[in-house]
Amino acid sequence: MVIKNGFVVTENDVTQADILIRGSQIAAIGVGLSDDETIDATGKYVLPGGIDVHTHMNLDVGIAVAQDDFYTGTVAAACGGTTAIVDHLGFGPAGCSLDHQIGRYHEYARGKAVIDYGFHGVIQHVDGDVLGMMETLIGQGVTSHKIYMTYSYKIDDAGIYAVLKRAKQLGVMVAVHPENDGVVNARRRELVEQGMTAPRYHAVSRPESCEAEAIFRASQISSAAGDAPLYIVHVSSHLGMQAVKLARRNGQKNIFAETCPQYLLLDDSYYERKDGLKYVLSPPLRRKVNNAQLWEDVIAGDIQTVATDHCPFDLKLKERLGKDDFTKCPNGMPGVELRYPLMFSEGVMKGRISANAFARLCATNPAKLFGLYPKKGVIKEGSDADIVIMNTGCGDTITHDRLHENVDYTPYEGFELSCKIDCVLSRGEVIVKNNSYIGQKARGQFLKRGLPALDAK
Ligand SMILES: [Zn+2]
Repeated sequence: MVIKNGFVVTENDVTQADILIRGSQIAAIGVGLSDDETIDATGKYVLPGGIDVHTHMNLDVGIAVAQDDFYTGTVAAACGGTTAIVDHLGFGPAGCSLDHQIGRYHEYARGKAVIDYGFHGVIQHVDGDVLGMMETLIGQGVTSHKIYMTYSYKIDDAGIYAVLKRAKQLGVMVAVHPENDGVVNARRRELVEQGMTAPRYHAVSRPESCEAEAIFRASQISSAAGDAPLYIVHVSSHLGMQAVKLARRNGQKNIFAETCPQYLLLDDSYYERKDGLKYVLSPPLRRKVNNAQLWEDVIAGDIQTVATDHCPFDLKLKERLGKDDFTKCPNGMPGVELRYPLMFSEGVMKGRISANAFARLCATNPAKLFGLYPKKGVIKEGSDADIVIMNTGCGDTITHDRLHENVDYTPYEGFELSCKIDCVLSRGEVIVKNNSYIGQKARGQFLKRGLPALDAK
């Protein structure tokens, strides 16, 4: 197959060229290439397939289970131009081994996923077995692990230090959810005692300072552990980014930052709306000033990746459980389907970032940091033919009824897009056309990931 005449977004350039695909891979990029089957991409952008390294399919949060499984969630991802995910696993039983949840998630994904997928391990406690298993799992393609600084299985400072030291030794990545657990819980109690249980108090309970303190602490522990590879998930505030940048200014080379579209595009005024519970997620939406400040960090290259934290619950359910008390509302929002179009429209079409910077944020850097590059995340000879053809000649208004996520709302209802996905290829196969998934069920493959490349810019 040949994709003809598009604006091909390669790692460092945008060139008008053809792409020859043989089997599942890109065989050549050049001019005047031909083959029996042709897709005409004249006037359109030809982008690497998106990689979302922060999703929560099937996530069990105790009071509810995230509604997208590996079928509906990956169909939605595909329709939105994402051709690979790396999922963050839910907690297993107390004391379980590090491979326990990985085994369970293989079962969740098998027979369902339509795009390629990998798993981050989740560290619930730290002991010799867990630290030993971090090495074993490299052979099984799991080369990153998540630690939480809050919630029931939070890891204490000594544990974080031990995990980071081990990660440095092995060359694997540690992803951290940074929030100060003690302060967040104290504030939740205070607010509930005073009857302050409306959605807006969700944001009040988890202030920016709690995020920034935890980022500062984790990054300094990484320094003490010898500049261990540390990936800060869902940075939501300027104050949090200041902690990231301080660590870098002091010479740390292995601190990486992720943000999400919701922190670039939405703000805490949404909690004042009648449907405010839609936006209950952690970290919460922040004061509006943070949107522009985080965009500045994206533009400057201080934020390496944009992921979604996709974790959908029906508004109906959020209201049933949380209408009298935000602390009872399951935390999370959908987003996997709209990351690529929103970031292209708000980033590239609005002139904030180049098409190359967009590809770096949403595909190339995630691939590098999580051991998928150059198989994924880039349009290059020999890479998987995971490709999105993006039409910029037409606009589109986001409405929930056109999306495929298994949830009853989108946080981006009514947002205008100035681009539209034409078609999506995964390993050389057209799987999305006219906003419909047309591939087989269960065609997705488990990604045995390599070690991270720490040169993401
Ligand atoms: Zn998450």
